[in-house]
Amino acid sequence: MITALYAGSFDPITNGHIDIATRASNLFDKVVIGIFATPQKHLTFNADERVELAKRAVAHLKKVEVRSYRGMTVDFARELGAKVMVRGLRMVGDFEWEFEMAMMNKLVAPDIELVCFMASQQYQFLSASLMKEVSALGGDILSLVPEHVAAALKNKGITLTERFLKS
Ligand code: ADP
Repeated sequence: MITALYAGSFDPITNGHIDIATRASNLFDKVVIGIFATPQKHLTFNADERVELAKRAVAHLKKVEVRSYRGMTVDFARELGAKVMVRGLRMVGDFEWEFEMAMMNKLVAPDIELVCFMASQQYQFLSASLMKEVSALGGDILSLVPEHVAAALKNKGITLTERFLKS
């Protein structure tokens, strides 16, 4: 039985993330979407909100579960008994950072393998941060995220727009 950990901040989960989780679940027995509770970035949703949004988004995927974690990702992988960590790679920008992180993870956890999925063509240019800006400015994001995520972003809309206008 191979468990794979797909870790990230998922702030919030997008169709690009769901695509990777779906494809990973076709390969592995179990996929855990690990929501890193305290990433070093400004967050729109707290950890509980990110977990709830992700859970609803992958409820139809029977082999996928969602958990939040703190501390090192490799420690969480070990706690789960995951031999594999999954990441998604978009054409522009992701490779260098993912490679650096993979090398560091390999140093501290040589027993865990990294499997990268190339982002599907339609999600190559989809990032949670850009999608949030489009949403904050009233743009249509329904092709980028599930409906309940778009609704949750709309609820946060005023705050985001205020922040955007101030910056
Ligand atoms: P992190 O803060 O760890 O980068 P993210 O939530 O931004 O967390 O992303 C989690 C993983 O999903 C990363 O491997 C990222 O490259 C990948 N990813 C993000 N957006 C997409 C997308 N549109 N298509 C495929 N993979 C993606």
